[in-house]
Amino acid sequence: MGFLSRFRRSAKTLDDIGSIASEEDLPVISDSRNTTHEMESVPIPEHEVESEWESTEMIDSIHLDRDKKSQRLVERKKKSQKPRKKVNTRTRPSKLVPRPSQGLSIDIDHLVEKKSRRKISATPAFEELMSELETTLLEADMGHEAVDEVLMAMRERLIGAPLPKKGDLERIIDSALIGALDSLLRVSYWDFDQTVQSLLKDDAPIVIMLVGVNGTGKTTTAAKISNRLIQDGLSVVVAAADTFRAGAIDQLSDHAERIGARCIRSQRGGDSAAVARDAIDSAVAKGDHIVIIDTAGRMQNKTNLMQELKKVHRVASPHIVLFVGDALAGNDAVEQARTFQSFLNFDGAVLSKLDTDARGGAALSIAHATNKPIVLAGVGQGYDDLIDFEPSNFLTQLLSDDIDPSSFTIVKRDPNE
Ligand code: GDP
Repeated sequence: MGFLSRFRRSAKTLDDIGSIASEEDLPVISDSRNTTHEMESVPIPEHEVESEWESTEMIDSIHLDRDKKSQRLVERKKKSQKPRKKVNTRTRPSKLVPRPSQGLSIDIDHLVEKKSRRKISATPAFEELMSELETTLLEADMGHEAVDEVLMAMRERLIGAPLPKKGDLERIIDSALIGALDSLLRVSYWDFDQTVQSLLKDDAPIVIMLVGVNGTGKTTTAAKISNRLIQDGLSVVVAAADTFRAGAIDQLSDHAERIGARCIRSQRGGDSAAVARDAIDSAVAKGDHIVIIDTAGRMQNKTNLMQELKKVHRVASPHIVLFVGDALAGNDAVEQARTFQSFLNFDGAVLSKLDTDARGGAALSIAHATNKPIVLAGVGQGYDDLIDFEPSNFLTQLLSDDIDPSSFTIVKRDPNE
């Protein structure tokens, strides 16, 4: 069964199209309804980050009774009308090469009847449908804030849209939803290979630091990225800066041997910043192109871990910091991304284990929660199992059990958009 099946079944039961229509001339919010709504992602300020790894957003709201749900919807609506608080974040390094992603959209101009006096309005049936969608997205592991953004974008796109007489209401709703999900993923999207090539024009070695919680796939990702760059003809040094676990040092050094990278390591318990520094010095001495720093991710002592990572960051001054998130971890991955973001301000994320039966919500939420894009995805345990994360492909796959992907119109986006 598909990700959206239940929501779409509910949308279908709106056979009485009048139940979400009003005869009033409601203001039409957007004139061009075949363009995708751009959503504003709001990074979380440091002081708002929860204090423990284990503190995840509870999705118990799924089980709230209907009265509470409607109350919450009203509160959210009020909140959404308040101006959003702008949060200052450190500017990203300017060298990241932006990558225009193809946006998904369905042209609905031919589906709506512009002259119709009946317009979609926030009737109880419409609110019920939005509530159903909220539940669906929360159950797919999306975080509350990302879900709120999607619902807000849906309302903006739908309320006031002229209703067709015997309309394809389902397709209009699909269109609004796909556009909203797509916008979540396209935030500040940049291209990994082009960025590395561009950085190499001015500097070498290029230092890439990987951060993330243990078990998410950091070491494997370090090996996959090294392998990818080696296949592009670059020489790579990996730094085993997760000195906390002897296993991690051996694991990275084994990978390095297999893929033809050099590995700089110390004994267990060594100074991770010193390992990173040694790796960079060694790369400079031998004229290597890339240094990849694998770091610790122990959950037990977050304060020490973050201090250690900050020291590595200060000493190594990486060109690119990537957060590795486990697609299977769902909401936990989103909380982890927020925490790392508040300490280190990473540039993008790698979503590992996308080949598993992860529900996809983590991908949609990480970008929104951190305002940083997912740029690469792990799709298996082999060295070649690393792909560019392309939002429209991801959504096409995520929704393919629900919606016929061939009905999507792929819209080329202007890189300066
Ligand atoms: P680390 O503790 O973050 O360094 O995580 P590891 O790199 O040791 O990976 C933990 C486990 O996840 C290992 O068994 C990896 O083989 C596995 N793994 C990593 N990436 C992927 C992926 O993209 N797909 C799958 N299926 N498994 C992965």
